[in-house]
Amino acid sequence: MHSALVLNASYEPLSVVSSRRATCLVLAQKAEVLEDDGIVLRSESFNIVQPSVIRLRYMVKVPYVRRSSMSRRGIFARDEHRCQYCGGHADSIDHVFPRSRGGPHTWENVAAACTPCNRTKRDRTPEEAGMELVRPCRVPRSTSWIVVSVSSMPVCFSASSSFHIKFFSVWSGWLGFREPAARFHARAIPDDATAQIWVNHVAGPALVLGSTQRDPSMIDVDECARRGIDIVRRRSGGGAVLLTPSEVTWFDVIIPSGAPGWAQDVHAPMVWLGERFAAACHGAGVTQAVTVNDNSMVRTEWSTLICFDGIGPGEVLLDGRKLLGISQRRTRTALRLQCCWYHQVDPAALVALFPALDGIDPAALSPIATLPTQISDDILQRLCSS
Ligand SMILES: [Zn+2]
Repeated sequence: MHSALVLNASYEPLSVVSSRRATCLVLAQKAEVLEDDGIVLRSESFNIVQPSVIRLRYMVKVPYVRRSSMSRRGIFARDEHRCQYCGGHADSIDHVFPRSRGGPHTWENVAAACTPCNRTKRDRTPEEAGMELVRPCRVPRSTSWIVVSVSSMPVCFSASSSFHIKFFSVWSGWLGFREPAARFHARAIPDDATAQIWVNHVAGPALVLGSTQRDPSMIDVDECARRGIDIVRRRSGGGAVLLTPSEVTWFDVIIPSGAPGWAQDVHAPMVWLGERFAAACHGAGVTQAVTVNDNSMVRTEWSTLICFDGIGPGEVLLDGRKLLGISQRRTRTALRLQCCWYHQVDPAALVALFPALDGIDPAALSPIATLPTQISDDILQRLCSS
């Protein structure tokens, strides 16, 4: 990567500049490095790692014109295609304070709405119509303008590829896509889903439980609270997974019925995905032995409690250690494969969260494989475009 994302002091994305320019800003102490691309720049007097994301040390006022680049698509994206009055599927745009009465066409005055709500409201304010917005309309934090305006942005949306790639790379985490685990896991599979990959850039520490892990006494809730770990239940089965920002890559693959990878059989899609993941590992230059479990679940003493202790169908091993965990949820129209692998892992941090594991040596758990962040980004890109 030879360009860098520039964030405001407030972490709001501002622009993309050359790595050289970004380096100058850092050397002039006008910005700090949040992410680097690992390339060391050397000079006579010092070495510096080439930045890929920097944050200015001062606030830049964002011009109104940039702020107001508002589109129908952008409004639907901000409101997640939900009617802001009834929560149903939105197919129109409502001006909260009616245009006919001078209401402006701004982020703060537009809301996605369904046709029935829009018809009911007519040219009235919500109060006059006796309706209530689910939430106030705001300028979105996710900056869609930067995604569409920067051609080198590693974000693509290709209708011809079998997957719609939503976003990836080190930048994406800074572009407003960091999403709390609770919200990510509460996402429903859309009824009209196309094949797609959702990448969850973990925003904060979270313990993600399997759909059947419902006994609250299995977790040391106080320990979670002390360490600021959110407890979240996902909609797919299996054991618990501890997520720590920057230590893990989590992505979901949505496969509609009939699409490549779909099968009636529960195991086949996971093996299908595991094989693609293994191929992406090889493509990204992983030299260790990468194997896919194409048999049934390999259980251990703790595998129902902790996802990474057992090895399920389709899951991928690196030199015999579990690398990729996969769980599955199905609806009538699609299946959702939830996958993650670690860049860094601390078994002791996990053990401390479960009373059942009190006093056991963390080394007694099955060892977990890790891959460095940069290789992981490469694997994700390859997986998305395969
Ligand atoms: Zn509605």
